[in-house]
Amino acid sequence: MPVLLHDTMSRELRPLLPRRPDGVYGMYCCGPTVYGPAHIGNFRTFVLQDTLRRVLEADGIRVRHVRNITDVDDKTIRGAREAGKSLADFTRGWTEKFHRDCAALNLLPPHVEPGAVAHIPHQVRMIEALVARGHAYVAKDGSVYFKVCSCPDYGKLSHLDRSRLASQDTNSAGEANDADEYDRESAADFALWKSRKPEDGDNHWPSPWGEGRPGWHIECSAMSLEHLGATFDLHAGGVDLCFPHHENEIAQSECATGAKGFASHWFHSAHLMVEGRKMSKSLGNLFTLDDLAARGWSPMEVRWALLAGHYRSPLNFTFKGLDDARSALAKLERGCDALLATAGFTRAEFAPPTTHEPRVGWGRLEAAWERLRDDLNVPGALGEVFKALAHPPADPEEARRDVAGLARVLLALGIIPFAPRPAPEAPPEVRSLAERRWAAKQSRDFAAADALRAELAGLGWDMLDRKDGFDLRPR
Ligand SMILES: [Zn+2]
Repeated sequence: MPVLLHDTMSRELRPLLPRRPDGVYGMYCCGPTVYGPAHIGNFRTFVLQDTLRRVLEADGIRVRHVRNITDVDDKTIRGAREAGKSLADFTRGWTEKFHRDCAALNLLPPHVEPGAVAHIPHQVRMIEALVARGHAYVAKDGSVYFKVCSCPDYGKLSHLDRSRLASQDTNSAGEANDADEYDRESAADFALWKSRKPEDGDNHWPSPWGEGRPGWHIECSAMSLEHLGATFDLHAGGVDLCFPHHENEIAQSECATGAKGFASHWFHSAHLMVEGRKMSKSLGNLFTLDDLAARGWSPMEVRWALLAGHYRSPLNFTFKGLDDARSALAKLERGCDALLATAGFTRAEFAPPTTHEPRVGWGRLEAAWERLRDDLNVPGALGEVFKALAHPPADPEEARRDVAGLARVLLALGIIPFAPRPAPEAPPEVRSLAERRWAAKQSRDFAAADALRAELAGLGWDMLDRKDGFDLRPR
């Protein structure tokens, strides 16, 4: 039975199966606009896409993951001008920052990460095809627009009523959209090519319609065509991209290439709220990974908190949720330690595998794995993980099977247990008490060890024993 996932277009759970004869699963994800640090709302989408890719790979599917970089638009051009940098220097800096944050969150790098500027010739070719086929028109100022009424099945993805579809002014999350208010024949039309404006500075490129730059939507159509072909398996993005961005991508791609069924499956993740409120600059809740690190949260705790809700439900991101993530990770690690002890392994031997080895099986973690395969039910899978850890086996052989299964489930979730994270440093007197207790335990003086443990507890510290050492955690 293949992995099942809800598809926005058909509104059904559908199997994820590669359609290419070589068996490679093509996955296109709309990437970041690199004009500042990405915030946790952006990262929730990227973490979910990463987890889906990991689940497919765990299922034995070879994935080709393409995620673009938007390095030219109004925001990047404005940002570069304000920073006094060239557009290329400005966007390179923010792209590198994005990569560092992704690595901290344990996101696998995509196989291809195309940039919009490097694909301007591809975008121009696609616009030429749209003009030639009667799906686009050139306005007086040299801008080119897509003619929405030329595409009879426009709107098939987002299921919006015709009045919403008739304008490009709000997106599917109900937010104002950067509509291109120039010489459109109809409010439903959108820009494919924007003629050069004074505020663009040096950022303009030649085209058959004069100097200018591409509209935003066309970049994903051109880059997916170049790197995955006219049709491919899965397209992903946040729910706010469903309309108009993804709707426009379908229209551009299918009208330019003539191939129907641009993407076979559409994966949209619900939006993120912060402390019950919409994320916005004015509320100051567009938290970045650095903001959360400054408050003492590790990237792995953030990843856990972002994964904690089902992808189809809006997630309310709270500091209480981060606390819960910290406790859950600590509980997971205690469970791992208990399993490792029974299995006769040290933590060093519990290095999560970097590739999935089906021959090792899932042990009692089978139920967790099945949850992941059923519409990417991460909360359900985590529940099954804790259920399995609550009753560790006494038999070392069984424990070894569970260790292998757990390592595979954690690889699919991108969760790394025992990752270093900012933990309060125990004061020297606590450390020395703990070392005395460890020595007492090693020499089997359990009475002394218990007395020292109580003394540590009195100072507000728990000592957690492992086979090969101990940890100190505040109570
Ligand atoms: Zn896109």
